[in-house]
Amino acid sequence: MPELPELEVISAHLTNLLVGESITKVSVHNPLVIHGLPIDDFIQGAINERFDSFRADGKFLIASLENHDLVVNPMLTGRFRVIPRHKKPTKVDMFSIQTSGHTFWYSDTKKMGRVYLVTRGDYSNVAGFANRGPSPFDTILTSNFFQERLKHHTGQIKNVLRNQRFVKGIGNAYADEILLYAGISPFRKCSSLSHDEVEQLYTAMKKVLIKIYDILQTRTLDDIAVEKRDFLMIHNRGGEICPLCGGRVSEVRANRYKTNYCQTCQK
Ligand SMILES: [Zn+2]
Repeated sequence: MPELPELEVISAHLTNLLVGESITKVSVHNPLVIHGLPIDDFIQGAINERFDSFRADGKFLIASLENHDLVVNPMLTGRFRVIPRHKKPTKVDMFSIQTSGHTFWYSDTKKMGRVYLVTRGDYSNVAGFANRGPSPFDTILTSNFFQERLKHHTGQIKNVLRNQRFVKGIGNAYADEILLYAGISPFRKCSSLSHDEVEQLYTAMKKVLIKIYDILQTRTLDDIAVEKRDFLMIHNRGGEICPLCGGRVSEVRANRYKTNYCQTCQK
């Protein structure tokens, strides 16, 4: 479940390793994750192009080639690795891209990720790309604009925080972390939040994401791929001790999503 901070750090690693290198071979090991074009077109479109840049855009990773963008929405289990030499693909490997010096691997145990190769800058066929909100760090997302945007959403605040149409890049885990810092219950209705509470939420969002980004920056691509999220304060810590008050962390499951929160710290 890479979210914005992971994808920012992943794209920095990929920039260091791959930008400037030309693609000599593209292999699709499992076509399930390739969307929007035939596999042969995917391969032919990328081959002989050069990696120009990498960037995170919300929960998408975009690799710009000369004429195309490789757009990956890794969903829950998409992982990125770069190794010096080629290896045999395993059953979780979806595709690999060789350059003269490296091989870039995309693997996905649940095969839920979606991968596209589009004409550079044209994301009209990428599912879930259009109509997203600003990134938490977009300069337009001032606290006033955050307050204003929230008025257009209804329902529980955690669901709004991870709704990409509200802000892009926050997923299930970091929404829990942000709400702990903000002292707000994940189940509160948006409309019940006071002006001050929304202000706390805005501040918590930035603080938590920056803190996580700073920690991830010290980690390698492989560390991030194994997803050792040992820095999480509350998510995935049901039954453990709340780091803020010493109480027990609660856990609620809905569909395939887990919510962890502290009944004492979050009101
Ligand atoms: Zn607590």
